[in-house]
Amino acid sequence: MTTEQWMTIKHFTYREFVSPDTGEENMDYRMVHFLDIMRQILGFPIVITSGYRTPEYNAKIGGVADSAHLRGLAVDIKCVSSFTRWKIVNFVMNWYNGVEVRRAGIGDTFLHIDIDSSLPNPVMWTY
Ligand SMILES: [Zn+2]
Repeated sequence: MTTEQWMTIKHFTYREFVSPDTGEENMDYRMVHFLDIMRQILGFPIVITSGYRTPEYNAKIGGVADSAHLRGLAVDIKCVSSFTRWKIVNFVMNWYNGVEVRRAGIGDTFLHIDIDSSLPNPVMWTY
């Protein structure tokens, strides 16, 4: 994202989305803007545990080869309570203004959400 695009984001900084191996950030604005709106409406902190990934980092952590994280179209959000899991899943499944989240994964401690329309959708999986 450009500096100008980041200046429109209220609740997140680029550091939260960088690939840990190189510090690169290559997020798609639509994804981060969606998260910013979700954070504003839900009213509780949204902790990003994985944003953009370089191909090398994605391979290192065992991500799927064509992961949407490689294109900055996915994030993993820390989620350890059933209440916040319900709130986030409910939000992403009911938001149709500008961006549609049609891919989601439910982990024990996180949620994966992505807007990559080049991958199969709508789908929801578990880990
Ligand atoms: Zn993910």
